[in-house]
Amino acid sequence: MYDWLIVGAGFAGSVLAERLASERGERVLVVDRRNHVAGNAYDRHDEAGILVHQYGPHIFHTNSRPIFEYLSRFTGWRPYEHRVLGQVDGRLVPIPINLDTVNTLYGLDLTSDELEGWFASRAEPVAEIRTSEDVVVSRVGRELYEKFFRGYTRKQWGMDPSELDRSVTARVPTRTNRDDRYFTDEFQFMPEHGYTRMFERMLDHPNINVMLQTDFRDIRDMIPHRRTIYTGPIDEFFGFRHGKLPYRSLRFEHVTLDTPRFQAVGTVNYPQTEDYTRVSEYKHLTGQEHPKTSITYEYPSADGDPYYPIPRPENAQLFRTYERLAQSTPDVWFVGRLATYRYYNMDQVVGQALATFKRISDALPAGADTRTVKAIGAAAVAS
Ligand code: FAD
Ligand code: UDP
Repeated sequence: MYDWLIVGAGFAGSVLAERLASERGERVLVVDRRNHVAGNAYDRHDEAGILVHQYGPHIFHTNSRPIFEYLSRFTGWRPYEHRVLGQVDGRLVPIPINLDTVNTLYGLDLTSDELEGWFASRAEPVAEIRTSEDVVVSRVGRELYEKFFRGYTRKQWGMDPSELDRSVTARVPTRTNRDDRYFTDEFQFMPEHGYTRMFERMLDHPNINVMLQTDFRDIRDMIPHRRTIYTGPIDEFFGFRHGKLPYRSLRFEHVTLDTPRFQAVGTVNYPQTEDYTRVSEYKHLTGQEHPKTSITYEYPSADGDPYYPIPRPENAQLFRTYERLAQSTPDVWFVGRLATYRYYNMDQVVGQALATFKRISDALPAGADTRTVKAIGAAAVAS
């Protein structure tokens, strides 16, 4: 009899497996329908021997020291600050928009103070900032919004920024200085030997068994277990009984080139042209030296594996219906980006899993056989 059946070997499932096994000495079975651990953070060496990310570029960044220190038990780190350029009006300029972006695009020589005024003179007043369009036009005006955000967002999400919550484009700041880093978090690193190795170490415990290429739906009634942690799509768990929750997917095209370097930075975004949104070159992220290089094109799509919850009011409302069902389902805990329908970064999922572990520990004395205790994933504690 397993104490826990954990569905999904991504961050949510693996952190909880590690905590439950190490801290409470409980027996855990982790199942994943894919043929590997690490969820969407999975990386592997491709045929040329270059370390690539199967599901697009993953850069670890956080402001939370406890989350960073927790993961540091399972990996060393390589300092890495991600930089992104955008192909806009035929030039490559920094994203997020900063002083150099504007000076380059408009042939200006503004100072930071002058740029603040330049933005203010173009910004459109918006009474209440609700949508992803509002966020940008109220800060930098419509022209830059159209150059950098409208096309990219329509490609990425299959809908206009005016139909998406403000939180989506608010992920990307606007700067008046020359800082060209994509993230400004205190801790910005890549796992020294990759994400997959980190997950393997996290799951390497005598109390943890892992079964890959195993769908929860096929084994849930066959493997005796006391409780479940579910990190897949929440609507699927309930057989889509209230309808499908929309998730956005991507098709990844991985290419290896016979040249040591393809582009100047880790990622180049294409907000105006091309069918893909961005191209990432892994050697920038990993620091690997190799005579060839591997890159990934991201083509957004409505069909395929669910990668992104789509933040907009009607989806949040449908999620709440499923959340209520989850709350009244005994002995199942819902955690992670798909199960709690939140557009979370890796550190936020780790934070949510650690917070859930604490709630489990508070609710259930270790080794207890009490049933009918559960909770939906706790709020994230990270940035
Ligand atoms: P997942 O990693 O999706 O794991 C869930 C697992 O559950 C999957 O492996 C799935 O196969 C399995 N599963 C689902 N249903 C079942 C079932 N019925 N039976 C068995 N197994 C099942 N975050 C960052 O912090 N930095 C980044 O740079 C970054 N870049 C990203 C780029 C892309 C293209 C994407 C899509 C995401 C990115 N993220 C990034 C977000 C990051 O991937 C997530 O925050 C994190 O991986 C979520 O972990 P999770 O455990 O919640 O879900
Ligand atoms: N975005 C954009 N243009 C860009 C970069 C981002 O319009 O050049 C918008 C787009 O809607 C995107 C969102 O900002 O989905 C968040 O960007 P981020 O890079 O955080 O997306 P992720 O890495 O999660 O795919």
